[in-house]
Amino acid sequence: MSQTLQAIRGMNDILPDEAERWEGFEELVRDWLAAYGYRPIRMPLVEPTPLFARAIGAVTDIVEKEMYSFTDTLNGEQLTLRPEGTASCVRAVLQHNMLYDGPKRLWYAGPMFRHERPQKGRYRQFHQFGIEALGLPGPDIDAEQIIMCARLWDDLGLNDKGDIKLEINSLGEADERLRHRTDLIAYLEKQAGQLDAEAQRRLHTNPLRILDTKNPAMQALVEGAPKLIDYLGEHSLKHFEGVQQLLKDAAIPYRVNPQLVRGLDYYNLTVFEWVTEQLGAQGTVCAGGRYDGLVEQLGGKPAPACGFAMGIERLMALLEAQSAVIEVAAPDVYVVHQGEAAQRLAFRAAEMLRDTGCAVFTHMGGGSFKSQFKRADASGAQLAVIVGDDEVAANEVTLKPLRVAAEQQHIPLDALADRVGDWLYGIDEEIPEE
Ligand code: ATP
Ligand code: MG
Repeated sequence: MSQTLQAIRGMNDILPDEAERWEGFEELVRDWLAAYGYRPIRMPLVEPTPLFARAIGAVTDIVEKEMYSFTDTLNGEQLTLRPEGTASCVRAVLQHNMLYDGPKRLWYAGPMFRHERPQKGRYRQFHQFGIEALGLPGPDIDAEQIIMCARLWDDLGLNDKGDIKLEINSLGEADERLRHRTDLIAYLEKQAGQLDAEAQRRLHTNPLRILDTKNPAMQALVEGAPKLIDYLGEHSLKHFEGVQQLLKDAAIPYRVNPQLVRGLDYYNLTVFEWVTEQLGAQGTVCAGGRYDGLVEQLGGKPAPACGFAMGIERLMALLEAQSAVIEVAAPDVYVVHQGEAAQRLAFRAAEMLRDTGCAVFTHMGGGSFKSQFKRADASGAQLAVIVGDDEVAANEVTLKPLRVAAEQQHIPLDALADRVGDWLYGIDEEIPEE
């Protein structure tokens, strides 16, 4: 009977070591988003199912086979755990009439849900952060979003190693895709024998998606297929050139990949992916592009839009592979104590320190001073505050530096906060200049 309870397959616990690295990353991301004028928005995790079918497209992988959809038995509503953020974000923008006073730059972050086969870099609950710029038609915003990514890689210490690469393409406009589609289907039909099962299934529903196949046996076929880029009209080409000019000005290397399509139907014109070779098959860390039709498709007044989403698990795995270090916060002070009166003094000392902004870890669970010092050491704290019977009798504490060789000092309780402050923030001044 005593079966161990487990999390759902493909849905991970993020344990403290990793969660702290995520927090460090999120802090950096927040500053970076603010630097480009993006403001936060938080959408529900659950939406009406028809939102995703309408936004992402009925014959996409996501809608056909990856959505966690269910009937709310309490009222019969058809609901879905969000598989991505763009549809919800646009829904929220329309619901709250947010475009009435001009363009908006928005960002969101959080869990997304897709019923995929779990493997490294592919989970059933995963996390994205994404940005959406709504109301801006020009190639300038497409380029700025890509440049923005490059800055983030730089901030994360990824760029100089050159292993996160940019691929771009243009999907043109609907009429251009339609002409290409006719020729693409004709081409693929002629080689029907070489199509794998998925491609055969896609042939008359979403043939463009076949170009995105990960099956090595189909690569030659795909490379010989009619290229969408050859079907682009003047306006689409000009837009694409505009993006590329700004990328060149910013000295961002890229490759035009004519096979690059996206798994969601709402994209047009610019699409892009940031890809790494360090994560095996799941190498796309960030993906996005323009989706000018979506706002109208979801019932709004037509408005151009452009955005991207990053997979946080993949990005964190890449940082780990690169051993790029995100600093993890250690406490400033670890308080060790022994005896009942000492514990009460330790509590007071800790609260006094926290009043001045220190991060303090008070030892709990008893044990010898020796074993408590082991914990203090492992915590990464700079200082230990020691409270024993002698300290209680004198209403003082002992302050012991943990990271440098220095004498421990007896300090009256009311002077403690100042002395700790000197240690933590004024320590550089004590080192004589050379
Ligand atoms: P893929 O081709 O890898 O399936 P996708 O085209 O389905 O990706 P998007 O919907 O564009 O991906 O999502 C943007 C990003 O979110 C991806 O580039 C990836 O980093 C991340 N991502 C997507 N699905 C998953 C997943 N199941 N697990 C972890 N990360 C994911
Ligand atoms: Mg996918």
